Amino acid sequence: MADETQSYAVFNSQALIDTVGDSASAGLEASRLKKFISVLGGRFFNWGQRKSLFPLHLGIKCCALEMAAAGGSRFDAERFGVFFRSSPRQCDVMLVNGPISKKFADPIVRLWEQMPEPKWCIAMGECAISGGPYYQSYNILEGVDTIIPVDVYIPGCPPRPEALIDGFQHLRKKIMRIGTTPSTVRDDDAPIIVGDQ
Ligand code: SF4
Repeated sequence: MADETQSYAVFNSQALIDTVGDSASAGLEASRLKKFISVLGGRFFNWGQRKSLFPLHLGIKCCALEMAAAGGSRFDAERFGVFFRSSPRQCDVMLVNGPISKKFADPIVRLWEQMPEPKWCIAMGECAISGGPYYQSYNILEGVDTIIPVDVYIPGCPPRPEALIDGFQHLRKKIMRIGTTPSTVRDDDAPIIVGDQ
């Protein structure tokens, strides 16, 4: 009996939401307010998104020390709205900072897939870009872009923390340009190479 009451309440709530939603949508559409709200809301969302990037707190190899320095008190990446988080479900930037061995390819793809859209990838250092000193090694991938689409490349071995912060600034400009397009439909968008402008 309790279950039936509960289902009935859920049904009524859903029906009410649908009815109010349909009427509100029709009213807004007729007054062209819907388009206005959609454009304004989209811009507001983009502004918030680019001002608060949440990279995954993932250290792979020596470039991770530069990432740590960028987050430390001297460079203080947080003042630019870059907050490292330890759960992929709370992140929107995958910062790859070392060589990807074939054994590590599956876990890193799994981490990427656990991150919600819209999300971006930064390849930091030669190892993440092309394999670096391990180029054409038997067990190292020739760049993380062989498994994950990369938005920003930061060359160097290792790149300095300033270059990493610069990479995030470039990513911000990209987010302003392309909005919050999901990573799966950004194939045509050329990646940014820091220092190549
Ligand atoms: S690019 Fe250089 S500094 Fe960075 S992980 Fe590779 S070897 Fe280390």
